[in-house]
Amino acid sequence: MEQKYFNVADIFGENVFNDSVMRERLPKKTYQKLKETIRDGKELDLETADVIAHEMKEWAIEKGATHYSHWFQPLTGVTAEKHDSFITAPMSNGKVLMSFSGKELIKGEPDASSFPSGGLRATFEARGYTAWDCTSPAFVRQDAAGATLCIPTAFCSYRGEALDQKTPLLRSMEAISEQSVRLVRLFGDETTTRVLPSVGVEQEYFLVDRDKYLERKDLIYTGRTLFGAMPPKGQEMDDHYFGAIPERIEAYMRDVNIELWKLGVSAKTQHNEVAPAQHELAPIYAECNVAVDHNQLIMETLKKVAVRHNLQCLLHEKPFNGVNGSGKHDNWSLVTDTGHNLLDPGKTLHENLQFQLVIACILEAVDEHADLLRESAADIGNDHRLGADEAPPAIISVFLGAQLQDVVDQLIKDGEATSSIKSTKMKTGVATLPDFTKDATDRNRTSPFAFTGNKFEFRMVGSQDSVGEPNVVLNTIVAEAFKKACDTLEGAEDFEAAVNEYVAKTLKEHERIIFNGNGYSQEWVEEAERRGLPNIKSMVESISALTTDKSIKLFEEFGVFTRDELQSRAEIEYVQYAKEINIEARTMIDLTVKQMIPSIIAYATELGNSINTIRSACDVADVSTQQDMLIEVSNLLKEAKQALLKLQEVTAHATTIEDSKEKAFYCYENVTVAMDAVRAPIDKLEMIVDKEYWPMPSYGDLIFEV
Ligand code: ADP
Ligand code: MG
Repeated sequence: MEQKYFNVADIFGENVFNDSVMRERLPKKTYQKLKETIRDGKELDLETADVIAHEMKEWAIEKGATHYSHWFQPLTGVTAEKHDSFITAPMSNGKVLMSFSGKELIKGEPDASSFPSGGLRATFEARGYTAWDCTSPAFVRQDAAGATLCIPTAFCSYRGEALDQKTPLLRSMEAISEQSVRLVRLFGDETTTRVLPSVGVEQEYFLVDRDKYLERKDLIYTGRTLFGAMPPKGQEMDDHYFGAIPERIEAYMRDVNIELWKLGVSAKTQHNEVAPAQHELAPIYAECNVAVDHNQLIMETLKKVAVRHNLQCLLHEKPFNGVNGSGKHDNWSLVTDTGHNLLDPGKTLHENLQFQLVIACILEAVDEHADLLRESAADIGNDHRLGADEAPPAIISVFLGAQLQDVVDQLIKDGEATSSIKSTKMKTGVATLPDFTKDATDRNRTSPFAFTGNKFEFRMVGSQDSVGEPNVVLNTIVAEAFKKACDTLEGAEDFEAAVNEYVAKTLKEHERIIFNGNGYSQEWVEEAERRGLPNIKSMVESISALTTDKSIKLFEEFGVFTRDELQSRAEIEYVQYAKEINIEARTMIDLTVKQMIPSIIAYATELGNSINTIRSACDVADVSTQQDMLIEVSNLLKEAKQALLKLQEVTAHATTIEDSKEKAFYCYENVTVAMDAVRAPIDKLEMIVDKEYWPMPSYGDLIFEV
């Protein structure tokens, strides 16, 4: 972007084949057909697809595109794409034509054999298909590599099993829509035909200087530091949070915003986060599948633009020990196609029966399937973050806030609610400042699942993880609770009394999931145990939630996952866990052997030499300090070396284990423990050894000098 100042409205969505572009460029009949497909979820005929493909190609070529790509989200956590150019076979005159057919638009066939399938597809059945998700618009991505038309797609195996995040997400959206429509019908809404989740994802990330990053092999290979002592100054001053943004970072954010705006991603807020060098970006919420796509684009763009500014964006949940990690907040609500948000309590919450029913159902869903929600937020980086006093604990609970809690209390106690706490005026005490209405409810940063006015905020998701799975789970578990309510209430004689009774009963049964106190406290851990709420501490322990009878029944009932698909997902997660731990362990071994130990020995040698030098210059000089240091360094070095031997042993043993679940558990219980044991003495050494000798930039260098 050359010009310094510009109007956002002029560039917003300029690289998106969005509704206004389609309306303008497609023949009326084609446009109508496509809209019907999007609205009613019908199949698109090839003839219409041909016309759309042609126009899409012409438009993309005007934007400089040479290639098209089916853009999809396999179960690797990142997006994948295979590029094909638009050119056709050369003609007899040696020239080529640019073409793109409807078939190429709606179906792709990447060689799928190297994407994880968790046993769903034997290697000889390499076929996998990508299918256009016409509800998420195509876009042209421009960067140093040129311009490419990207077509958001779902990715399935030859037999139609989902191999990606998108397919189950779309299935879960169907499920929640169908049950929500039933629910609003009960309350006399005859016009709504679809109800879709609206999702807004707040993304946290770290930025460090790229030159320093390149000196840290641990960051390069694993995305987090495997060693590192805390600098003298941490985040205790709280001076970074919402602090003024330095110009270098501001310039970066500006470029990120421009890139995102062109792609139609409504990047809205940006600010510094709690930790030094930590920041956050949030777009305005969008329909669930679009929001999931956009979050992937946000992560890609944050990384790509950083390199242009000689920065490195770290999306890992815990890049630095002892410094707050990063997460994602998945803000979720349900909106009818007539524009009504089912999570909006309205002005008189105590009179809003439909809202009360919706809340009761959501509490039921979260309580019944807390293990699945926890699993959906599990990734290897989150193991370092959840429950560590900086992120929600690993225990799922729901925060309702004062206003809603008050109504829930009335409903439980009296079977109905007769009043709600009103918002009050906020008095600033300064005449020239406006008095404004205060929210009726405060916030609770420690809750994993919080009601925030007209949406729920699921705050457990890892910063580098896809928000696909959390939304699949949310949509499906709520669909189940809605279905149960509708099955009971449809045809009730005295509808109002029946709803009141249903709400009160459901709230009583699931009251234990509500917690409005401090989720970081030890008392809560104990209280949750008394209430019988699951406290699943690690990723490996959470995975089995996918394949319980309860989970299989749930997902099969709503056609979101088959038993085989669930088993394959569990398998993939075990495999991925073991693989990632293996990479971390090998990186640690490599660094310890090639960088840490040699540097420590060099320093110890220098100490020894200096003792000799001083002694020979003056044999009565007191060198006991140097000697003490030499002893301390040598002892810690020995401890590190012993821990290293153990780490080498367990890492080697892990590779001999065939069964992936067993291997993952072995890695969790042995390899990660052995890694901690190597790290401890080396971090102590970092505090003793002369900085000149230390082989890599310190935490201080990385997070305070950006
Ligand atoms: P908070 O301050 O409660 O975290 P923000 O206004 O910062 O809320 O918004 C956080 C994210 O939630 C944004 O992406 C925003 O667009 C999204 N959001 C706001 N309202 C809704 C809603 N009704 N449904 C889903 N997401 C929403
Ligand atoms: Mg938030």
